[in-house]
Amino acid sequence: MPGFRHLGVRVWASVLLVLCLGTALTVAIAQYDRRLGERSQSSRIEVRLQAAAFQLERTLSALVQLNHDVAAAILPERTVTAEKLRPLAEKLINDHRRIINVAVSRGLEVVFVHPLEGNEAVLGMHFDSRPEQMEGVRRAIERRTTVIAGPLSLVQSGRPGLIVRTPVFHPATAGEPGELWGMVSSVVELEGILEDAGLSSPALPLTLAIRGREGSGAQGPPFHGDPDLFRRPHVAVDVALPAGGRWRLAAAPPADDTEAAARRTRIYAGGSAISLTLALLLLYRSGAFGRGRSANPAPPFLPARTRIGIRAFLTGASLLALLPILAIGGWVSYRTAQQSTERFSQALAREIGDRLHDRVAAFFEVPRHFVAFNIEQARAGLLRHEKPEDLMRGFLSQIRQQPLLTFVSMGMADGEYYAASRPPHGADKALRMLHSRISDDYVMHIFRTDQTGRSTSLMSTGKGRFDARRRPWFEAALDSGSLAWYPAYRYAINDAEGAYDTMGIGMSAPLFDPHGSFIGVATADVALSQLSEFLRELTAGTRATAFIAEANGLLLANSALAPIYRLDGEEAVRIPLAESDSPLIRAAARTLTASAHPEGSASIPIDGGNFLFEWHSFALAQGPTLTIGLILPTSHFEAMASDTLRNILYLALAVMILSLMIGLVAADWVARPLGALSRASSRLARGNWQRTSGEPGPIREVATLFHAMDCVAAQLKRHTETLEHKVRERTEELEAANHKLAMLSLTDGLTGISNRRHFDEMLHSEWARALRTAQPLAILMVDIDLFKKYNDHYGHQAGDECLTRVAHAIQSCVKRAGDLVARYGGEEFAVICAESDLEKATALADILCHAVAAQALPHVLSPHGRVTVSIGVAATVPTPEVAPETLLRRADEALYRAKAGGRNRVNAETGNPQLVPAGPA
Ligand code: GH3
Ligand code: MG
Ligand code: MG
Repeated sequence: MPGFRHLGVRVWASVLLVLCLGTALTVAIAQYDRRLGERSQSSRIEVRLQAAAFQLERTLSALVQLNHDVAAAILPERTVTAEKLRPLAEKLINDHRRIINVAVSRGLEVVFVHPLEGNEAVLGMHFDSRPEQMEGVRRAIERRTTVIAGPLSLVQSGRPGLIVRTPVFHPATAGEPGELWGMVSSVVELEGILEDAGLSSPALPLTLAIRGREGSGAQGPPFHGDPDLFRRPHVAVDVALPAGGRWRLAAAPPADDTEAAARRTRIYAGGSAISLTLALLLLYRSGAFGRGRSANPAPPFLPARTRIGIRAFLTGASLLALLPILAIGGWVSYRTAQQSTERFSQALAREIGDRLHDRVAAFFEVPRHFVAFNIEQARAGLLRHEKPEDLMRGFLSQIRQQPLLTFVSMGMADGEYYAASRPPHGADKALRMLHSRISDDYVMHIFRTDQTGRSTSLMSTGKGRFDARRRPWFEAALDSGSLAWYPAYRYAINDAEGAYDTMGIGMSAPLFDPHGSFIGVATADVALSQLSEFLRELTAGTRATAFIAEANGLLLANSALAPIYRLDGEEAVRIPLAESDSPLIRAAARTLTASAHPEGSASIPIDGGNFLFEWHSFALAQGPTLTIGLILPTSHFEAMASDTLRNILYLALAVMILSLMIGLVAADWVARPLGALSRASSRLARGNWQRTSGEPGPIREVATLFHAMDCVAAQLKRHTETLEHKVRERTEELEAANHKLAMLSLTDGLTGISNRRHFDEMLHSEWARALRTAQPLAILMVDIDLFKKYNDHYGHQAGDECLTRVAHAIQSCVKRAGDLVARYGGEEFAVICAESDLEKATALADILCHAVAAQALPHVLSPHGRVTVSIGVAATVPTPEVAPETLLRRADEALYRAKAGGRNRVNAETGNPQLVPAGPA
């Protein structure tokens, strides 16, 4: 590795942060997934359990019915032999593959068992000696009806089994209930029926437990599976035992759910991989593996006009990267949840619908079964119609066996009527006996019966005549000539408590004696209110509403218990589906009318909620075609999908906020120092050399830029200051040089006083000024006397020296500001005297003359023995017509005259050279 050493604390902190965040996020996702998984698994388990419960109920009902059939076959015979029992038992075992054996007992002693082989131990067994068996036996005898006993350990195999026990009683005599004759018991292997219900496959993907032994109800002791399950979270579904009592099925996902474990492993692996990749990417970007970033940065991809701030850019970029992922992921999971919800609610509707169909079909088999039984009895001469008391007791024992029946009755050919009945309404559930005889003038008499089947008291008598021949069921039987359904009708029983205030439907058939003579009409009848109660029981706990209607749209029954008829005087008027009190049924009616299909499924909105409506037709043999409808609210299931949607939205919001925060923080790291840099550069542009203010932030490139900016600023400052200094120096030098040059051009090189050029300029300017001011102007012309001889005698160098000293002597005497001394040429000098008339100028000339002489420079060849000068003076007030040269010429003429006058003297232009007293000669 080229360089982990140079990586800063910040990089390592970021790597650690990425790893921590990645781990936390992975754990959170795994938890969330686990909860979702549990929820959907619970739904799946519930559907499976409901299917199993339905199958179990069906199996148990079939077993009860089969056992009951054997008992019913024994009932009329009383004297039974093994030869008679064997074919019945064989048929029973053939009819149901899960029945292992059938035993018949007289009293409490087993006298017959089939098959005998392997069951020898059972033969001769006394239930008294088997307390575990006695419990079920006692229950069957007490209830005088079929019970499902167990599960208990079977005598033969020691394996768990159920025993279906149907007690057989002697007929009641003289108001006494019949005594126990014996019992028919079918033994069923528990494992077998659990397997049929799909609950014992070794690959069952759930932990199962069942409780409710000996029909003790859903809270009874556990008898199958893991009993601890009831103390853990589980999904429960109850099974209604056909002979009363309940079992509870409980299930939970298996402890070692490999699918969930595999999914969790995938989530953890994915999370770790992403976190590690991000961490490595971070290290790579930090240069841990050499050159981390490309040498050529990509050119800006946005046109200058659309440039945006760095904060908006970074935040937007992080959102842009995350939002599509969130949107796609969210949409996919929402759709998945929605689809599985739809599938789930459809599967559930189908389950409940199938169950409803089977149970309703079984319900409608009840009247057929009893009427068919009575037809057979009549044909065999066993229906004791000539002894009405016995007839009614027989009906009573039949109705006792089937709690769904309301009437088992017979209308005689002469219009007499005998019936046993269970009142469909009211608190008094005691069974009734009813008759209407010719001797009573067809007045209906209703008696209450006690437990033993004896009539105890006359409860009421009918208002008018009750002639069976006028009843709809009697007429229907005569019309069809055989077993047939009769239309629903209102009971004409006058009961003080209104216990019969409902409608009934059932089957009736004409009865014939063994000689084929018509003896009357038998009926078995169910109350429609009971059918409604039955529907309500079937749909309990499913939130579904079920209804049954006839093909003409008239309501027969419904689990909402909405009325199915109304009274118009004494007339009962049936209510069609479309006019039901229940809005659900009304909505279903509209769908049915619109569809016109015998079966179907539709999603219908009712009062703002969504419902799944499933219906199918069901033709009763020898009877009407019914429509069974099931309306299931789907909002309950839709909540699952909307839960998912809500979770997705929360997640999206959280990610957005998080990325916004990360974006802002990251942008701040970059934007703040860049802002400071940008301000510093504009200051620099204005020539302000301040250091870049603010913190460079954690980003290395920006920090480098900060440092570089400060260096550039410092260097620029240094360079500029040096340059300014040099320019100032050069300017000063230039100015000095210029001055010198100007001086040089106006000065005489030898003597240092003004030269002829300067003199000429000054003469002209002074002349012009004097002309403007009308002031006089004078000129002195000064010439060194006998200078040729001086040169000859002292040499040229001494001559130059002398020239300089004379010049300085003259200069020292001329002090006025407007006056100028200049070397006019050779050994001649000229003086301009501004605002001086001749007199003033002459005075000055005198002073000059004396000053030179006073220097006493030796000049042996001069008569004065020293260096002297002669001076010519001229003065005038200038006029425009006169040129300044005129004044010059006049001064020169005066000088000539001073020479001629003997030198070392002054001559004014008057032509009378005035003698100036010579210096000390
Ligand atoms: P006078 O009294 O009549 O003026 O006699 P003079 O000799 O002064 O006059 P002249 O004109 O004959 O001589 C002028 C001399 O001045 C000639 C020359 O040698 C000398 N001279 C002129 N210019 C310079 C100079 O710049 N340096 C030196 N050493 N001598 C100069
Ligand atoms: Mg001269
Ligand atoms: Mg001279």
